[in-house]
Formats: sequence, C-alpha cells, structure tokens
Amino acid sequence: MSSEKRYCRKCLLSEQGENGRMQLEKYLAAIHKEDRTDDAAYEKRLERCRACEQLGSDATCLSCGCYVEFRAIQKRGSCPKHYW
Ligand code: SF4
Repeated sequence: MSSEKRYCRKCLLSEQGENGRMQLEKYLAAIHKEDRTDDAAYEKRLERCRACEQLGSDATCLSCGCYVEFRAIQKRGSCPKHYW
C-alpha cells in the first residue's frame, strides 16, 4: 500500500497540508507586495477557481498549467478563460 498522501481534486495548495502551504509561501515570496492583488480580490479569484472545471490536481489550472494561487495573487494576473 502506498504511503503517498492523496488530496481532493479541488484543493488548492494552501489546503494541501504543511507541504502545500510551504510550497505556496515559497512561490508567493517571489511576488513583490506592490504587484499583489488585495486580499478581497485574491479570495474572489480563488473562489472562482475552486468552482472551475479547469482546476486540476495539484492545484494547477488545466488551461494554463499555473498554480492558481500563484496566478491569482498577481495584480496583473488573469484567468485564461476570462472568468476573472
Ligand atoms: S485560472 Fe481560470 S480557467 Fe484556471 S482554474 Fe482558475 S478560473 Fe478556471
């Protein structure tokens, strides 16, 4: 039996345990504060991603291949399907 952890298909990195949160923090640290969306816009974008048919395993967007949280945090980021 595999000891590999499995996560729900619709989980974001922030919801994938300590490893996911650490990976997310590493990515987000690369984005300057002035280049980040505000908290409300970030959460709104992620809510749309959570409901999206394009959200794949490992919290990536099947349309663009990005981690959705990494894309959503960027002020100039956009959804490849124009959902946000
Ligand atoms: S970035 Fe757009 S297409 Fe990709 S999962 Fe989020 S809402 Fe869906």
